[in-house]
Amino acid sequence: MRWENPIRFYWYFQGNLIGIAPADYLVFTWGVPELPEVETVRRGLAQFTTGFTIAAAEGFHPRVLKPASLGPLGSVVGARIKSVNRRGKFLWFVLDRDQALVAHLGMSGQFLFPRKDRPEPGHVRARFALKKGLKRQELVYSDQRTFGWLSVEEMHDGVPTSALHIAVDPFDAAFDRDAVITAMKSRKAAIKSVILNQEIMSGVGNIYADESLWRARIHPEVAANELSVRKIGTLVDAAIEVMAEAVEVGGTSFDAMYINVNGESGFFETSLAAYGQEGEPCPRCGRQIRRIAFGNRSSHFCPKCQLK
Ligand SMILES: [Zn+2]
Repeated sequence: MRWENPIRFYWYFQGNLIGIAPADYLVFTWGVPELPEVETVRRGLAQFTTGFTIAAAEGFHPRVLKPASLGPLGSVVGARIKSVNRRGKFLWFVLDRDQALVAHLGMSGQFLFPRKDRPEPGHVRARFALKKGLKRQELVYSDQRTFGWLSVEEMHDGVPTSALHIAVDPFDAAFDRDAVITAMKSRKAAIKSVILNQEIMSGVGNIYADESLWRARIHPEVAANELSVRKIGTLVDAAIEVMAEAVEVGGTSFDAMYINVNGESGFFETSLAAYGQEGEPCPRCGRQIRRIAFGNRSSHFCPKCQLK
């Protein structure tokens, strides 16, 4: 009898169901995961692990366990997963005990539900056996570059130790839009640095900074304090909007999974207007998107729509 994985990943673009994929690479990411990718991973994990008990847990790399972990991964064996939560890029499994299993994906971390009829995923750093009644599910943590980690941590009012210092992001119910705008308006730095500043608003990385500046028609090098409150509000709203769209589609970093499904890649990436689009026409005015240096990274913008 052939073993069939009943779990499916439903793939949406602009609100329409465009495909259903087997969940063997459910939360496959490449490129540095930004907030929408981590939120997508959280939703996938919550959907497919909630209610399961951790029957076995094992790490395979010395760096996979954070040194501050209260115990080895095996110390969560026997715990039942109540939900999966997130703050910033910190993910954690809420357990039926006072400790949580925390994960940070780093540069290349992935959670995978392996399929027996597919090749083993590479770079496996930890493996969990999950069970719920007669159901069995294996969950693997893979990390090629090993900047990600797992740890067992104490909870403080529902937040694990390592996530306590993280500012709220726009998906958090405690997010204060007006306070964020006021804080941005007081800065003299280039607006792109300000929107990337995780102490003011967490969650925006390089891709979503370029996309939201393009949507708000703001040049990345304009000083934040030279922009009006209304203009900064437009930018904050654009950042929220573009990240919410990315969550809806499943993040931008799912090309490898998508290739796995039908040989095509990067559905959301084809809808990026500015990031990575150097030389391509601006979707709004047709002028070529330009790329300029931004620290050791790049900024992409339209020289006609985003005047300095
Ligand atoms: Zn343009």
